Amino acid sequence: MPIPTRSIETRLRDALGEALLTQEPLRHHTTFRVGGPADFYFAAREPDHLVTALRTATELRLPVFLLGGGSNLLVSDEGFRGLVLRNACEAIEFDGTAAHVQCGADFLEFIYQCRDRQLSGLEFAAGIPGSVGGALYGNAGCYGDDIGHYTLECTHVDLTGKLVETKKGEPMEFLSFEDTTDIYETTFFPRAYARFCRLFTNTRPFLLVGKVEEDYSALTLTVEEARYLAGSESPSSVQRAPPEAMS
Ligand SMILES: Cc1cc2nc3c(=O)[nH]c(=O)nc-3n(C[C@H](O)[C@H](O)[C@H](O)COP(=O)(O)OP(=O)(O)OC[C@H]3O[C@@H](n4cnc5c(N)ncnc54)[C@H](O)[C@@H]3O)c2cc1C
Repeated sequence: MPIPTRSIETRLRDALGEALLTQEPLRHHTTFRVGGPADFYFAAREPDHLVTALRTATELRLPVFLLGGGSNLLVSDEGFRGLVLRNACEAIEFDGTAAHVQCGADFLEFIYQCRDRQLSGLEFAAGIPGSVGGALYGNAGCYGDDIGHYTLECTHVDLTGKLVETKKGEPMEFLSFEDTTDIYETTFFPRAYARFCRLFTNTRPFLLVGKVEEDYSALTLTVEEARYLAGSESPSSVQRAPPEAMS
């Protein structure tokens, strides 16, 4: 069922300007040319615009779908009720043998620019369509190689607009938790992930205990304890740890 869009549109337009589109057919943005309308569509060409769009949607409690090149998506004819946010930040800067790449950059364009500087490694991926961000999201690969092998560091923006960085070798996970009230997108930072990751399965319910805080309408849970719910619990599954941010 369509969400009430009128007041939401006004607030989104105040924040994002005339580049905000409504009822945008998603078939125009997917490789397979399928997909009905998005209530709202915005292509963010600067990181600040991306952060503003995420913050505003979060404040409005509007569902957001982050779109890259659309090459790994089959979108329903029903479209998307919420904001489709296209990461269109495309800057690529080289720094010796490394590169700083914004996630909206076209993956093949980045590979071409590496070739032009005689930097090898990513040529295996020349047949993979889409954006650098989409490739990182799915760890795109082929011929036994993948983009993760060549990734030194990532910076991502969470729903509060806060920048989060991770360095190579540190495990970091993005998980969705669901209960009867909502779905909670979370980021596990390395220490919490190392302690608790082995507990999480799709088959057993569990309890996260910690401090809940609200920031820009996004909830942050600082986890102090994670355990399986009574009935599905084994004594060795209970873990306690010092507080760790999960946002
Ligand atoms: C002809 C063809 C050949 C292909 N060959 C391969 C192959 O050999 N190997 C392979 O791994 N894949 C392959 N793919 C699949 C696809 O190209 C890759 O998965 C690609 O990396 C998806 O990137 P995208 O930007 O198009 O992502 P999209 O399709 O736009 O999105 C895919 C997912 O990534 C998320 N996402 C996109 N951008 C971001 C971002 N900046 N931050 C966070 N999340 C983001 C989206 O929310 C979505 O969940 C192929 C696809 C086609 C059509």
